[in-house]
Amino acid sequence: MKGKIFVVGIGPGNAEHLTQRARTALYEADVIVGYKTYINLIKCIAGGKEIVSTGMTQEVDRCKAAIELAEKGKKVAVISSGDAGIYGMAGLIYELVASKGTVPDLRTEQSGVVESGLSPFLTVHDIEVIPGVSALNAAAAVLGAPLMHDFAAISLSDLLTPWDLIQKRVEAAAMADFVICIYNPKSSGRVEQIGVARDIISRHRKADTPVGIVKNAMRDGQKVLITTLADMLNHDIDMLTTIIIGNSTTYVVDGLMVTPRGYNISQE
Ligand code: SAH
Repeated sequence: MKGKIFVVGIGPGNAEHLTQRARTALYEADVIVGYKTYINLIKCIAGGKEIVSTGMTQEVDRCKAAIELAEKGKKVAVISSGDAGIYGMAGLIYELVASKGTVPDLRTEQSGVVESGLSPFLTVHDIEVIPGVSALNAAAAVLGAPLMHDFAAISLSDLLTPWDLIQKRVEAAAMADFVICIYNPKSSGRVEQIGVARDIISRHRKADTPVGIVKNAMRDGQKVLITTLADMLNHDIDMLTTIIIGNSTTYVVDGLMVTPRGYNISQE
């Protein structure tokens, strides 16, 4: 009998921000598959289980290994930090399973289980995606309430997305006055993009627009800083950082960022 795959968003890191469903799925799983940094974040639960862990850039291999294990009957938890459906593993797992499933009859014939009607192959319905607290939720919470109005999430990683398209999206979001959450702002080998993005946004927003820079939100090493669009590049930004750029109405009060929703709260 085939097993199943849980695609689990483990949240930003602290065990307190792991959802109850994520926790039970991790307990239920026979095997946990994920990048080693994320396995470490949940090691209190992963203890004693089979672990499949490879480097960051081997996502496809990791997901293929997970699918193979599930087809052998194991319950497999594939973990992503934050939410598995936001720049996480959920889409890749679905894509891989769906692409295999384009020849179900042939595969069932080859497996020799046509008569029993049971297929050992995984279908998209053998996958359960378990949501988690994404970096934007965690960063927003520690900054105050910056996401109270429409916002756009943009990853600056051009590993899988052309840089031209990323710039176009930054420009469109800036022009439309969205609050902008930037994922993957910078890595050791990719340092230019955040400056270019900042310059694009500056063409549409004031220099003193509030900007929140949050590193390691809701896990060890958390750093929270509020600055401005003009000053943001003078601070420590890396791949463990999420940046939230306010819209034209966002303001700072007592060190916290607030974007008004539009309620009329003026005194009578
Ligand atoms: N699936 C994840 C995002 C993965 S992309 C989620 O939903 O949060 C990786 C990027 O997420 C990092 O480069 C960083 O920008 C952001 N990130 C993930 N965890 C974070 C945390 N605890 N604090 C700040 N940023 C974080």
